[in-house]
Amino acid sequence: MSKIDFTGRVAIVTGAGAGLGRNHAIELAKRGAKVVVNDLGGTRDGVGSSESAANKVVEEIKALGGEAVPNYDNVATVKGGENIVKTAIDAFGKVDILINNAGILRDKSFAKMEEENWDAVVAVHLKGAYCVTRPAFQNMRENGYGRIIMTTSGAGLFGNFGQTNYASAKMGLVGLANVLKLEGAKYNIKTNVLAPVAATRLTEDVLPPEIFEKMKVEYVTPAVLYMCSELCEDSGVIINAGLGYFSRSAMMTGPGAVLSDGKKVPTPEEVMDNWEKITSLDNPKFFNQLNDMFGELGSLL
Ligand code: NAD
Repeated sequence: MSKIDFTGRVAIVTGAGAGLGRNHAIELAKRGAKVVVNDLGGTRDGVGSSESAANKVVEEIKALGGEAVPNYDNVATVKGGENIVKTAIDAFGKVDILINNAGILRDKSFAKMEEENWDAVVAVHLKGAYCVTRPAFQNMRENGYGRIIMTTSGAGLFGNFGQTNYASAKMGLVGLANVLKLEGAKYNIKTNVLAPVAATRLTEDVLPPEIFEKMKVEYVTPAVLYMCSELCEDSGVIINAGLGYFSRSAMMTGPGAVLSDGKKVPTPEEVMDNWEKITSLDNPKFFNQLNDMFGELGSLL
């Protein structure tokens, strides 16, 4: 079995002051990566800031014999994103790995979802990924190498009551990865997506206590380490990880139906009468990009 080793690699982990990000950062450092530990250090709902969360993880890494520097910027601003990447370049010369992990929650049923709670969550998860990934991607392009992880959620992939803001932002990250996998391909930049399940402060009141106990963050990180290693050739893959279980989720498309031979505009009644065929997911197909979907249409019509 080849060993996954990050000697000589530089990694940025956002939101690495606690929970999943902390563990990703520590495990990367244990395998030789030089790590930028970014964390704004606010509350679970994104209020306030503190340097202690990032500092503590940097100390932990150093105590283990690893190399790390702290960064306290907010991922949700362009300036913050640029400064996070600058921290990596100033300290270690480049960026090889970026794990977009920082996150907050502001759950409310949709009827009560005020603009402020919508914007705050979309800003950290979705705009945050834009703000940090763009300068990192530019450096990776120059170096001809990069591994990027987006952290999505089952809340977005499958739906979860009370999380319209969070689910929307998390699915936005899937769209971002779908395009980055194409734009990064010729520069050996792979972008993959993690859908974790783990016991952290974000999930402590959502999960039953007996399950919460079994859901150590340690069970998630191995998937991240493989996906951000040079040995991972895949790009655009979504991996569910938690409790020792790993699986792939994907946007699949059913066989569908051509109505009226594709020659005249079908009526809504024809759509209704063929609804079962149209919505069938038997023998689904995976399209790697939009053009592949057009190719499929071309072959049917
Ligand atoms: P966590 O609260 O323990 O960690 C998130 C960290 O992000 C915190 O340390 C926080 O200070 C930091 N952060 C928040 N806003 C920031 C900002 N603007 N800039 C920089 N840092 C910021 O939560 P976690 O469960 O470890 O979450 C990590 C990621 O995993 C999040 O994106 C979350 O949505 C995602 N996720 C977690 C689960 C789960 O089961 N825990 C499930 C699905 C997705």
